[in-house]
Amino acid sequence: MHTKVLNLAQKLINIPSISPKDFGCQDILAKILQSYGFTIERMNFKDTKNFWAWRGFGKTITFVGHTDVVPPGDIKNWYTPPFTSTIKKNILFGRGAVDMKGSIAAMLIAVESFIKKKPTHNGRISFLITSDEESDGTNGTRKVVSILKNRNERINYCLIGEPTSENVLGDCIKNGRRGSLSANLKIYGKQGHIAYPKGAINPIHSSLPFLLELSLLSFDNGNIFFEPSSIQVVKIDSGKNYTVNMIPGELKIFFNIRFNSLVSKATIMNVIENLLIKHALKYSISWIVCAEPFISSPKVLSQALSESIGACANIIPVIKTNGGTSDGRFLFSLADEVIEFGLLNSTIHQANECVNIFDLLKLQNIYYHVLNKLLL
Ligand SMILES: [Zn+2]
Repeated sequence: MHTKVLNLAQKLINIPSISPKDFGCQDILAKILQSYGFTIERMNFKDTKNFWAWRGFGKTITFVGHTDVVPPGDIKNWYTPPFTSTIKKNILFGRGAVDMKGSIAAMLIAVESFIKKKPTHNGRISFLITSDEESDGTNGTRKVVSILKNRNERINYCLIGEPTSENVLGDCIKNGRRGSLSANLKIYGKQGHIAYPKGAINPIHSSLPFLLELSLLSFDNGNIFFEPSSIQVVKIDSGKNYTVNMIPGELKIFFNIRFNSLVSKATIMNVIENLLIKHALKYSISWIVCAEPFISSPKVLSQALSESIGACANIIPVIKTNGGTSDGRFLFSLADEVIEFGLLNSTIHQANECVNIFDLLKLQNIYYHVLNKLLL
């Protein structure tokens, strides 16, 4: 059995690289890539490690990945130690097994096999690896992309190894993601005695009609790639310093909107602020744009990927944009086509994250097929 991909995945899982730490994962990858003639350019910022590596010239396929992982959470919930990769009945357990050290191993070994077969391949193969995907993303892909843009780098095919498969490997690829917009809203009332409500303004009571309308807002109906934009209130807080006989003076409301490219963030902000005005509420609001939506129309890469998945996994993937935000939002401006495809996402960020070792081999094979289709 071909165990190279498994060995590399295990080596990476055994390093507790909780975001944004890398703890040497990227040294392992860089060493392998260097031995195959890649030029490695490190772009480290503060506690974040990144590198951009390339080999060849011309049309460029870029493999994108992150070596950081989320914390293990409560260790008691793990059957095996999270940072000691363990194989049980062909399942590899460990933090990062699918998100996304397993995918990184599959990319590396696929590229290695491809170069061995065709050392003088067409085009350019490159890697963009960061250790800051799972935290705030400040010093990771965002910065590397801005440096690459400044020197007029261009990516033709950008393949991100995020775990996009849902039930079986290859059933889903992603060509975009929704944006994310958060709001910190404060509604002002007037503090007072519960027994004398006339002299007070209860911000909870005055907010209720607004909150109901807010929760029912509809911005669009979605399209074939995007689900409709949606809003979720996540927290309502009138403060801790109140006793049962006090009317609070203000109310903090936190909410988040996942929005698609059919609606702009300016429109969303306008609609919500108009709603606040309609309900005559005294308020202040601060908006945080966590991510812009992006959509990459399916072209050469998604075609090559779909065919490769068909050939190696015997399934035709659907193309979706659901799920959380990803580093694709930064790469969109640098690449002609951005597609995400990787392992099953059913255990990501959970205790006992795991991958079937045959899926790892299949994924390696699929990436290898893609290289053959695009660069042979
Ligand atoms: Zn990830």
